[in-house]
Amino acid sequence: MPKQTKSREFAADWQSLHQQMTGLMRELISATVDKHAPDLASLFYNYMEADKDAAVFLTHELVTERLHTSMQGWLRELFSLKQKDPVEIYQYQCHVGVVHARIQIPIALVLRGTRLLKQAITELLVETELERAELVQATRFVSEVMELSMSAMTDSYIINVGKNVRTDESYRMFALGQNMLAERERQRAALSEWAQHILLHLLGDGEGHLPEMRHSEFGRWLQHKASIIFHEAPELERIRVCIEKLERTLLPKLTEQRNRGGDAREAMRQVEADIGEVKFLLTGLFDRFIEVESGRDILTRLLNRRYLPTILMREVALARRSSVPFAVLLLDIDHFKNINDTHGHDSGDMVLQQAADLVTAGVRVGDFIFRYGGEELLVVLVEIEKEQAKYIAESIRARFAAEPLRVGDGKTMPVTVSIGVASYSGHPDYEKIVKDADDALYRAKNAGRNRIEVA
Ligand code: GH3
Ligand code: MG
Ligand code: MG
Repeated sequence: MPKQTKSREFAADWQSLHQQMTGLMRELISATVDKHAPDLASLFYNYMEADKDAAVFLTHELVTERLHTSMQGWLRELFSLKQKDPVEIYQYQCHVGVVHARIQIPIALVLRGTRLLKQAITELLVETELERAELVQATRFVSEVMELSMSAMTDSYIINVGKNVRTDESYRMFALGQNMLAERERQRAALSEWAQHILLHLLGDGEGHLPEMRHSEFGRWLQHKASIIFHEAPELERIRVCIEKLERTLLPKLTEQRNRGGDAREAMRQVEADIGEVKFLLTGLFDRFIEVESGRDILTRLLNRRYLPTILMREVALARRSSVPFAVLLLDIDHFKNINDTHGHDSGDMVLQQAADLVTAGVRVGDFIFRYGGEELLVVLVEIEKEQAKYIAESIRARFAAEPLRVGDGKTMPVTVSIGVASYSGHPDYEKIVKDADDALYRAKNAGRNRIEVA
């Protein structure tokens, strides 16, 4: 169901739920929740921390503090007397779901914790001056408000977890892409081999049937593997059409010519052209895949930033398990606009490529380098202590400062960089470490550039 429909449904339910309640009752519920919000939040997190599955997500003091405050805010907001647009309330619940998905809190835990809250609020209401009939109504209201919130939260949680899974899938394709250059060469060779086979068969005294494409190595690859790797790329269909034409029309014609002892040159030329076309399509298909699906930025050959969440989420999970931290470097070229303005955009591009090479040479093979923005690169240094990360950042900065970069026409120009360094602090949300690095970079720029700052 489209999101808009969902938010409209939410708004309608929310409104009808609230219309059934008297103002006095709502006031009482709101005041009760408001007064006890800190206790309710404590109850929720004490329960979470006692759960060994949940404890993993709550080790970090900061998170506990922050979550504690946001939980109080969430409760107060849910039962607030202020007239708020229900669509906004819906969006807020969705946002919470998105955060849960990002830090990968199991949804079942959240649901269990919420049931606990419902119970606790009910108990608090029992102690108020509400009459029995009113109490029943108030309890039902509390329960339904929370259910409604949970359904919005769960929907957005599921959509976002799904997104993460899809990114994982594209990461798999990216890993596959690393072997694609080799695969491309292998398949081009397999195709040539088959073509040669055919020609030898035709030119020599080949007896019997021509070797069929689908029984060749290339044919089997095309049949079984290509459609998985390339899904339904249009080139695949065109390759199939070419092959069919070759097998059904061109080769029989060539065989016939040869058997009649006539001039087979024209038929031969057509066969060669057809095989050439297949090779051309195949190369294009691979190249497109290598450029786009390998997730590499075309200019710098660095990783595309769309893989950043996948990589960081993995690193957070690994660091949590192994207790070995990782680090993020955010690097920004100083006064890059000047380079473009002085020497032109192509020179700017050249500098970017050299910057990518310098950074690549300055980190370890297992590290990840992303093109994060126009002239910003982000490095994920895996399994590394903060001090060592700082050392690597400083050595990268020094590499830039030590040698001017080429800007074309034999000219060079000094180029410096500023770098923000952040080390994994135990925070389960991967966006935190990127933000830390970004803040540090900002400080490095303000402090005069050509320097590193550590978060
Ligand atoms: P600062 O030291 O504060 O980082 O200054 P700056 O000039 O580097 O920063 P600013 O963000 O103002 O300018 C970045 C420029 O980078 C702006 C944009 O035109 C240019 N840029 C972004 N992507 C590319 C690219 O792919 N090629 C080229 N040549 N320029 C790019
Ligand atoms: Mg910039
Ligand atoms: Mg810059």
